[in-house]
Amino acid sequence: MSISEAAISTLRETLVSSVIFTPHDEGYADALRRWSDTGAKPAAIVIQPTEVKDVVTALGWAQDHHIDLAIKCGGHSVSGTSSSNGGLVIDLSRMKNVTVDTIKKTVTVGGGATWKDVDEAAAEHGLAAVGGTVNHTGVGGLTLGGGYGWLSGMYGLTIDNLLAATVVLANGEVVKASATENADLFWGLRGAGYNFGVVVEFTFQAYEQRNLVYAGIVAYTPDKVESVIGILNTLLLDNPDPRSGAMCIFARPPGAPVPMVNVLVFYNGSKEEGDARFTDLLDLNPVVNMIDMIPYSQLNSLQNPMATYGGRKSFKGVFFNPPLEPIFAKTLLSDFTAKVQSDPDLGASGIILEFYDMTKTLEVPRSATAFASRGSTQNGIITLRWTDESKDLEHRAWAREVQDRWKVNLDAAKVDVKGKADVPQYINYAEPGDSVVSNIYGENLERLKQLKAKYDPTNVFCKMHPIRLG
Ligand SMILES: Cc1cc2nc3c(=O)[nH]c(=O)nc-3n(C[C@H](O)[C@H](O)[C@H](O)COP(=O)(O)OP(=O)(O)OC[C@H]3O[C@@H](n4cnc5c(N)ncnc54)[C@H](O)[C@@H]3O)c2cc1C
Repeated sequence: MSISEAAISTLRETLVSSVIFTPHDEGYADALRRWSDTGAKPAAIVIQPTEVKDVVTALGWAQDHHIDLAIKCGGHSVSGTSSSNGGLVIDLSRMKNVTVDTIKKTVTVGGGATWKDVDEAAAEHGLAAVGGTVNHTGVGGLTLGGGYGWLSGMYGLTIDNLLAATVVLANGEVVKASATENADLFWGLRGAGYNFGVVVEFTFQAYEQRNLVYAGIVAYTPDKVESVIGILNTLLLDNPDPRSGAMCIFARPPGAPVPMVNVLVFYNGSKEEGDARFTDLLDLNPVVNMIDMIPYSQLNSLQNPMATYGGRKSFKGVFFNPPLEPIFAKTLLSDFTAKVQSDPDLGASGIILEFYDMTKTLEVPRSATAFASRGSTQNGIITLRWTDESKDLEHRAWAREVQDRWKVNLDAAKVDVKGKADVPQYINYAEPGDSVVSNIYGENLERLKQLKAKYDPTNVFCKMHPIRLG
């Protein structure tokens, strides 16, 4: 696809607030940069607006000239769903204002903000919202696909706390979506939201969060993997606590010869309460214990050193119905260890298994939002990282093979779990082509098709799990 200079000049002349990057402009390479190099593509033009008017103009321009379009918020899509090969990127990253209503305890945030912007602005008023656990991820992508975070145990998913959104539709109309305005669109935004427009503003319910939280990594040698998983299963199933959560992360800390069993623990309470909650884990003699009392606004930065920008990455979601079989986890760790030891270029890879209390999330009926995987299934991610582009296919194939094994394990488990969803895979951990379920929207697909026909009949927003008409 090639775009004429005349067309680009027309766009330049009509935009009022945007910084514009074409290949001739300084800063173009930076504007293409994404969290993973695999997600970066050479757009013909990138615009970074601060006013909604420019989003409307650019959307119209792309359609008039039949130009490929991508919308970017935090830029964490590893397959490039927020990038365009030769087309236009509307990069919302300058639309990141956060305003806090301390009376209603709400946070209103621009469509290009990161969770760091939200966490820090809310903390100034003793508040917190249910956001992502790595604070440089975008509010946009995470919210539109559902959103799990450390506060999900207490308050549910990010979408369960979304009160309103302002959306620029494909036809250029700017509309509000909430329980009382365009309620059908509001339903679709919460779980399938990348399909309907550019969300330029989100309003979330926030909550008092004045106390410090108990959080940090405890690390164990690989031989402890079965004991660790056993303890995490017990905490989740026999002793659920909405104030608590954990992630088990197989990864090689700097200096370690092999991947270790690292557990990131969280308790929204005092040190005594946290120690009591995790006493069995602490008794297991970790080789590292970095647990501390920290502000909530710092919690979502703890994983940043393991989730840095750069390199080529694959991000493949897995899922399990707890209890996770300790022996299965042990096999997984040993296969993962063999894989990363076979190629030193994979040294910064990891496998993350979440253990969140889903009770609050399950209080919302599955039909209340478009989020199809609402259930008691837990999520995980195989995140490989390397630099050698010639290894892309090989590494992705390995991750896919492991991903398939998880699905077989889940199907075989036949656990009768309350709230088990027909679509077990979390949409935000399944980029297009990586989904191991055939229909990521499950029973919501027909209703979503009707919404797509109403709000985006020509499929302008088609990059992330597109809803196909016909
Ligand atoms: C390191 C890391 C940590 C993560 N942690 C969590 C976590 O704790 N909890 C969780 O639930 N998920 C998590 N995720 C998954 C995350 O929710 C998705 O990767 C999400 O899509 C990232 O959004 P983004 O805005 O950063 O990415 P982008 O690449 O900018 O966007 C992703 C998709 O959403 C669309 N989009 C983004 N913003 C808008 C908007 N305002 N309007 C319309 N479309 C938009 C884009 O067009 C694109 O298709 C994590 C991912 C990574 C890589």
